[in-house]
Amino acid sequence: WSKDTVAVVTGANKGIGLEIVRQLAQNGVTTILTARNEGRGQSAVSLLKAEGLQNVDFHQLEVTDLKSVEDFVAWLKQQYSGLDILINNAGIHSYGYTDKKQGAREVIGTNYYGVKNVTKELLPLIRTGGRIVNVSSKLGQLETLNNKELKDTISTEEHLSENLIDLFVNQFLEAVNKGEISKQGWPTCELGVGPEAFSDYSVSKIGLNAYTKLLASQLSSRLYVNSFCPGYTQTDMTGGLGDKTVKEGADTGVWLALLPPSSHDLPSGKFFYERVQIPF
Ligand code: NDP
Repeated sequence: WSKDTVAVVTGANKGIGLEIVRQLAQNGVTTILTARNEGRGQSAVSLLKAEGLQNVDFHQLEVTDLKSVEDFVAWLKQQYSGLDILINNAGIHSYGYTDKKQGAREVIGTNYYGVKNVTKELLPLIRTGGRIVNVSSKLGQLETLNNKELKDTISTEEHLSENLIDLFVNQFLEAVNKGEISKQGWPTCELGVGPEAFSDYSVSKIGLNAYTKLLASQLSSRLYVNSFCPGYTQTDMTGGLGDKTVKEGADTGVWLALLPPSSHDLPSGKFFYERVQIPF
């Protein structure tokens, strides 16, 4: 990997995203740290430069705002002409929101639609052999769905389409509006804060994983597209709790991004945890 290799990381002013930028830059890759907030993003870049990483650049990017995405892509095209690695890291959960309907819309809007906004606009600029790495979660594994019909809808690969994934996440938002998350069999989990607290987060990552598979099949032989779970990682998202440091949480994503181009059978359309493939 050389300074001619260009990587873009979303939501990178802190947490796992910031650490992914650090590790990519340490590997000699020119890395563009993006953040929705200009000040927070610039501070993060200054931090990395103070660590001796001069190969880090910055641009504002709010993944839910199409104008921001377009401005970013225009800038990238002009400054770098293209890219080799895209890490879709930006993500939120709605724990603590009082308006759960609003929270669910924002979580799906960021973690699923946000990834699509950025990926679609950047795709034409990603050079052949490039990598897309989606930061997902084991909370988005299909086994979290408690309804066979829902599971079949989203897991039948022959029928997978973008429209189908959109319908799936939108069906969940309707269930939220009706107060029928558990009744319809959407994911519930036992994190000690109420079974439905992370349902929207789970569904957003199920959608993201399905999109990963779809994109990989559409782009086969041109780009490699995978998702990974960082594990329970000590960041603001978890209130600093977790059994992994950010360095450990970022590891699998950086590994996927930097797998040598000469490797036989580079993975695509797969899901990883601790550098090992796991079921979607
Ligand atoms: P943090 O909350 O520490 O960081 C999230 C980052 O995403 C922040 O930089 C935040 O920006 C940014 N962000 C949020 N919304 C947007 C948006 N609309 N546009 C651009 N940037 C945005 O979380 P983590 O580092 O823990 O999470 C990173 C990823 O890892 C997420 O996708 C998360 O779902 C995933 N993950 C995390 C786990 C964990 O245990 N920590 C476990 C499994 C998955 P700002 O500072 O402006 O809010």
